[in-house]
Amino acid sequence: MEIKVTKTTNPKPIPQDESTLGFGLKFTDHMFLMDWDEGIGWHDARIVPYGPLEIDPASTVLHYALEIFEGLKAYRTAEGKIQLFRPIENARRMNRSAARFSMPDIPEEDFVEAVKALVDVDSAWVPYGFGTSLYIRPFYFADQVDLALHKVKHYRFVIIVSPSGSYYAEGLNPVKIMIEDEDVRAVRGGTGFTKCGGNYAASQRAGDRAMGKGYSQVLWLDGVERKYVEEVGAMNIMFKIDGVVVTPSIAEGSILPGITRKSILEYLRAKGIPCEERKISAEELMEAARTGRLEEAFGCGTAAVISPVGTLAFKDEVYEINGGKIGETSQWLYDTLTGIQWGKIEDEMGWVVPVK
Ligand SMILES: *Cc1c(COP(=O)(O)O)cnc(C)c1O
Repeated sequence: MEIKVTKTTNPKPIPQDESTLGFGLKFTDHMFLMDWDEGIGWHDARIVPYGPLEIDPASTVLHYALEIFEGLKAYRTAEGKIQLFRPIENARRMNRSAARFSMPDIPEEDFVEAVKALVDVDSAWVPYGFGTSLYIRPFYFADQVDLALHKVKHYRFVIIVSPSGSYYAEGLNPVKIMIEDEDVRAVRGGTGFTKCGGNYAASQRAGDRAMGKGYSQVLWLDGVERKYVEEVGAMNIMFKIDGVVVTPSIAEGSILPGITRKSILEYLRAKGIPCEERKISAEELMEAARTGRLEEAFGCGTAAVISPVGTLAFKDEVYEINGGKIGETSQWLYDTLTGIQWGKIEDEMGWVVPVK
């Protein structure tokens, strides 16, 4: 793929105080754009100065939410190398999302090449501290002036990047989550397995209600039987019950297949540590909590890596897990994954990809 690069003549100052970066608030000097037109395919791959996109008020995406996205990070190692974590997995997942919405594929190697090219152009923006990163947000939407939603003839693929602070500036503090028994996030046959804006829109109300009750996220139940736990807000969920790491199976298609989740399972299996992917009912979880067999619970995803759950609530029952502190396995997985990502420990799984 040929990428035309037009550099900004008006660079912004790179934030120097990495403790105030936050997440997804500041953006770099450039962005990647590419268009798809019927009969032509993807064309005009380009890196241009970061700025507003011009969009027609009748554009499909604004009305019918034909939008999907990805999320990954670029990490700076102590030696100054910049690296990505399994970017090909993001490329594949974006195409699986695209297929669900009848959107055209983006060749996997082009996706990865675009990510690398943009990170390279803005490499000075990759922060230095352990735990900090350049968050990469590829997204892709239907952009056609047509309220009748005829066959889409024009799509746009964009990548923006954002220097982000350490998720755990204040340490790995366990979060409080509650099992949501009213709204559902996804159903079998629906869009749960895709990373699409619409899934987030549908999750907003339950998230707001949970926050109002002092919980940071909800744990979703399956949309059919409303019995089995699926995932948390923007993370997959894992539990340690009776010494075994268990996580909901993604076979039904209503759970987002996280790359962090997949990596944890692969790593546990490589190390011979018992783990299971299966259905886990809310009742089984509460019973395990009641009888002290729920040893650990943690969310996992690119942003937080591992987010320990200290409190779990369902209806009127509230349990503290592992004394409200991070568990041994959660801590070990956090140290291992972040160690590989920031280049502090050897990448024996072959997951890390240099930007250049
Ligand atoms: C992105 C995402 C995850 C985590 O996926 P990773 O690839 O590990 O970052 C989990 N659940 C939802 C709903 C997500 O959007």
